[in-house]
Amino acid sequence: MKKLIEIDGSFGEGGGQILRSSLSLSMYTQQPISIKNIRAGRKKPGLMRQHLTAVKAAAEICNAEVKGAEISSLKMEFYPRKVKSGNYNFHIGTAGSTTLVLQAILPVLMLADGESNISIGGGTHNEFSPPVDFLNYSFFKQLKKMGPDVNINIGKFGFYPVGGGEISVKINPVQKLNKIDILQKGEQICKKAIAYSSLIPESIGKSEMKIIQKKLDWNEVNCMAKMVDSPGPGNVVLLIDENENSTEVFTGFGRRNYKLKNVIDDVLGEYAEYSDADVPVYKYLADQLIIPMALAGGGSFVTTESSSHTLTNIEVVKRFLGIEITVEKINEKQYQVRIGDKA
Ligand code: ATP
Repeated sequence: MKKLIEIDGSFGEGGGQILRSSLSLSMYTQQPISIKNIRAGRKKPGLMRQHLTAVKAAAEICNAEVKGAEISSLKMEFYPRKVKSGNYNFHIGTAGSTTLVLQAILPVLMLADGESNISIGGGTHNEFSPPVDFLNYSFFKQLKKMGPDVNINIGKFGFYPVGGGEISVKINPVQKLNKIDILQKGEQICKKAIAYSSLIPESIGKSEMKIIQKKLDWNEVNCMAKMVDSPGPGNVVLLIDENENSTEVFTGFGRRNYKLKNVIDDVLGEYAEYSDADVPVYKYLADQLIIPMALAGGGSFVTTESSSHTLTNIEVVKRFLGIEITVEKINEKQYQVRIGDKA
């Protein structure tokens, strides 16, 4: 058995991502981990249902031995074995994010011994998590360039607090990931906006799309309001900026007692930061690219100033893989992240 790696979950961002990244890298390196102070930086520390489901999913795909993983656990141990591709079903049981459960197991399933079909039940569009559309348009576009073909389908939408959503993900792996560089957006392909709503008046999504269309002067046919099937109410606004080398997705969430104007301001605020910086990679894609690029042995991208998620993920990856990762300032708004031999 390889040496156990000790992880302090209170480090840096101090949230669920340290746990998910550690699980991914433990499975990849086949090194057992002992993690303490899980999510110590959060109001309700310890394993919540979404995190526990990620641990269970990771354990199932590699038949791991797990000690201490229960709701609210602050520490646990994970002893991985060989990762097995296949068909798996995971259910969070709350509105917790299905895409974050996927985040823990995708890196190793992209490099597994065969195709995997994964179904996950929970939330599909959650605040502070990647919406399914972000994965589809943005993250998977970069993964495809690295080799694996990953596709995701929404069976049912799931919004906080009711949940009840369902995603299915098909992963066609490769033996080795390609190194990629994302330095410019490249040719513009399309700019579009979508408002998804469930069990609320249709007029809300329509108003959101009218405001976005006017404020950004985007083509009216590219601003769509859709009613979707979900067991609970929900509303989300997505801006999709599709370019040759990278596509970015920006999100605003409607909720009870939150003004429509605030939903619009949220999504336009992030879009403006990205547009002003003129970078191909915004902060969420940045933290999510660190693991695949490190597993490829290298890569680089130009992004905005690093978030604490990105900086924390860099440290976790360095800990397991001992790879060089640097963040260099290009100017006030642009930074270049280099991973591997070019770093
Ligand atoms: P915690 O409850 O401990 O905060 P968590 O498990 O919900 O933890 P984080 O550790 O905060 O999650 O990690 C959130 C992940 O979701 C990050 O990878 C981040 O990039 C991603 N994310 C958050 N918001 C968005 C968004 N709007 N678009 C795309 N990805 C997002």
